[in-house]
Amino acid sequence: MTRNPNATMTTAVCVEPGVMTLDQRPIPSEAPEGWCLIDIAAIGICGTDYHIFEGKHPFLDYPRVMGHELSGRIVDGPDAGQLVVVNPYVSCGDCRACRRGKPNCCTRIAVLGVHRDGGMCGRIAVPRDNLYPAEGLTAEQAAMVEFLAIGAHAVARSGTGEGDVVLVTGAGPIGIGTALFARLAGAEVHMMDLSDGRLGLARDLFGFTRTHKPDDTVLTGALAEGFDVVFDATGNAKAIEAGFPLVAHGGSTVLVSVVKDDITFTDSEFHKRESRIIGSRNALKTDFERVMAAIRDGHIPTDAIASERVALADLPARFPDLVRARDHLVKVLVTP
Ligand SMILES: [Zn+2]
Ligand SMILES: [Zn+2]
Repeated sequence: MTRNPNATMTTAVCVEPGVMTLDQRPIPSEAPEGWCLIDIAAIGICGTDYHIFEGKHPFLDYPRVMGHELSGRIVDGPDAGQLVVVNPYVSCGDCRACRRGKPNCCTRIAVLGVHRDGGMCGRIAVPRDNLYPAEGLTAEQAAMVEFLAIGAHAVARSGTGEGDVVLVTGAGPIGIGTALFARLAGAEVHMMDLSDGRLGLARDLFGFTRTHKPDDTVLTGALAEGFDVVFDATGNAKAIEAGFPLVAHGGSTVLVSVVKDDITFTDSEFHKRESRIIGSRNALKTDFERVMAAIRDGHIPTDAIASERVALADLPARFPDLVRARDHLVKVLVTP
C-alpha cells in the first residue's frame, strides 16, 4: 500500500446499529511509539461483530470500525512483509492484572474493533508486542487464531485433561473452538445447543457426534454422574444456570461467554460438589501460540471453519444476510 498522505483506503464502518457503510479514510502512515503498521490480510467475523451491528453490545460507541480477528503483514522495518496474527487486546501494562501476567483481563483493556477502531480496512496500527509471526499459516488461518485462542484459553483455565468428560454448551464458533481444544487435551467432548443447525455443523464438520438439546434428559446412563467440566459458550444466563446441575461432584463450570444479567445457583448444590466457577476472558500469548502450533500440526480443520468468503467492499451489502444466516456459518472471512 502507498505512503501518499492523500491516499485513502476502503473502510467498513458500523455507523449505528443496523447500518454499515463503506468510507474512504486516510491510510495511516505513522504508528505511535512501540506500535507498528500492518496491512490487513484477512479478517474473521465474530459473534461480537454481529452484536455490535445489532446494537446488542453493552459498552460501545458508534461509529465503529469493527474487526478484531485479524491477520496482516508488517509494513515497515526489518520484518516488513512478515505475516502476523494480531492479538487485539490492547492492555495498559500497568494495572495489577498486567503486572501479574494477566493482560487478558487488564482493568483498562481496549479491544481493537470493539473499544477502538479495528481492522475492517486496509491498514491499522497495533502495539508491536501484540503481533505474533504466523509461521507456516496462511493469511486466512492466521485470522482464525484469535477466536480459537478464546477456546484454548478456556480449556487451559479448566485444567481439562485425559479421562475428563466435558460438556460445551453453545455450538457457535467459540463453543466449537473450546470443544476442539478440549478434545485435543484428551477429553470426551459433548456439545449442547438449541439450534439443530449449529449441532449439525459440530457433528458433520468437526466430528462432535455426542450432541444434546437442552430439553434432553442428558444425565442418564453413562452420563448419570454429570460432566467434569461444563463450558458455557451460550451468552445466555438461563443456559448458564441450567448448566450448574450438570456438573459432576468435584467438577467445574467455565464461563467463556459473558452475560449482562446476574446468575444464581444453589449454594448447597455448589458446595456438596466442591465445585468451581471459573471465568475465562480473552486469551494470552501462550494461547495464541498453542493455537498456531495446533493449526501447523493439522489438528484444526481450518477448511471446515472457513464457511464463506466476502470481499471488504461487499461487506455492508452482505452483512444483514450474514447476521440472519449465522446459525449455518462457522466463520466468515473477509479480505480487504
Ligand atoms: Zn471475537
Ligand atoms: Zn492493565
